[in-house]
Amino acid sequence: MVRVTPYVYVREMKAQAWIAVNTFTGALDVVTPELGRELLAHDIGPAITREWEPLLARGYIIEDDMDKLWKVQPDRGEVGFTVCPTTSCNLRCTYCFQRLSTIDKQDMDMEVLELALVAMSQQAHRGTGKKNKVVLYGGEPLQSRTMGMVERVLSVCAGLSCNVTIITNGTGVESANALLLHYRDLINRIQITIDGPPEIHNRRRVLPGGDSFGAASGAIEWCLNHDLPVVARCNTDRFNMDSCADLVGLFQARGWFNNAEFAIAFAPVGDNGGFGTDGLLSEYELVTSLDRALPSDPALRRHIRLEPMLFLSPIAAQLGIVLGQIERVESHVGPRPYYCGAAAMTSYILAPNGLIYSCWECIGKEDHAIGRFVPELDVFPHGLWRKRPVTGIEECKECFLGPLCAGGCPMYAATHQKRNLMGPACEDRPQLFDYYMEKVIDRLLPSL
Ligand code: SF4
Ligand code: SF4
Repeated sequence: MVRVTPYVYVREMKAQAWIAVNTFTGALDVVTPELGRELLAHDIGPAITREWEPLLARGYIIEDDMDKLWKVQPDRGEVGFTVCPTTSCNLRCTYCFQRLSTIDKQDMDMEVLELALVAMSQQAHRGTGKKNKVVLYGGEPLQSRTMGMVERVLSVCAGLSCNVTIITNGTGVESANALLLHYRDLINRIQITIDGPPEIHNRRRVLPGGDSFGAASGAIEWCLNHDLPVVARCNTDRFNMDSCADLVGLFQARGWFNNAEFAIAFAPVGDNGGFGTDGLLSEYELVTSLDRALPSDPALRRHIRLEPMLFLSPIAAQLGIVLGQIERVESHVGPRPYYCGAAAMTSYILAPNGLIYSCWECIGKEDHAIGRFVPELDVFPHGLWRKRPVTGIEECKECFLGPLCAGGCPMYAATHQKRNLMGPACEDRPQLFDYYMEKVIDRLLPSL
């Protein structure tokens, strides 16, 4: 038994040219209006006519067995680790979900850190040729109190052949200079947040008694001068959206974009955990506003990223997309069963309280833990969090966006649906997909 795939998007472009997208395979085809209508109606009639044959080869017609369709997807289940030496931070950012949450802000004990490193070593992909991925996160990981722990983590990572990402507000980079240079070969990214020109950044990212913009921009400058891979992250909401173009201009004036590796990553301030943050922009609003506001020069846009847009990235991979994302296709290719590492339970966040979390927005909340690493590694099989494949969400099974959206953010679903982590989180994805398709079609098929 065959049928039209549910993973089809059809759009009329002109009277004689419609486009069809297979969101499972990434195929994009120009079709006749008749075929377009039939695809829209999911109707192949009593027999497959010759007209349908090309579409058969492109995966628009499938056997009626969704499990079989998804089974061909490779298992990407490697575990990635995040170590939080502390959940405290020296900044008081206005929108920070950790600041707004009621969790205890605590440092990790050295004994707890050693157990975290044991857990990490046990799960390392030794001898498989795969790089282990470790993120240093917080709170703020680069504080004078935590520097000894960071050094210990990096020394263990060196033995495990890891790629290390450091997520920092930049204020501690100067004290960590020697450490960062010593372990430079491990570091694949240092992410330093800058939310706008000085007055805007300092108003949002408050360093009591200090100049957080000066510290963050000085840290970026130092990384660039020492060939360390650095990304400036701009957490964006309604309160700084209008200054994004000025921020890009400021970076241009400093010559930062002359470094091929440097990028600015815009990310929407989120509230997936439901802390009541003000001024949020939807992904649609952020993408369309940035697209309008930023210079369109392709050489500059190659340095601009949208992160962590887990919906956009796979679309970028399959179809090529706005705002420089097309440069970064290698890591997201293929339909995906899981929205994020938390949904796949492949993200292990090792927190100071000895518990393991899957989602960053849950760190410190005991009922959201997926396991513990004290006194030894133990993953809970029946907790609140479970694997959440898109094929396991009733509402998503037949949704045309399923292979790209993968059911959305579980935390968002939980917050907005009374703790139902297993529910769908559509947000504004259908609308956003329409917008992306318009941009892609303009660029890929200019003659239409
Ligand atoms: S569930 Fe996934 S996408 Fe949602 S906040 Fe957590 S890590 Fe991010
Ligand atoms: S979350 Fe919504 S948009 Fe995403 S796949 Fe499920 S039903 Fe579709």
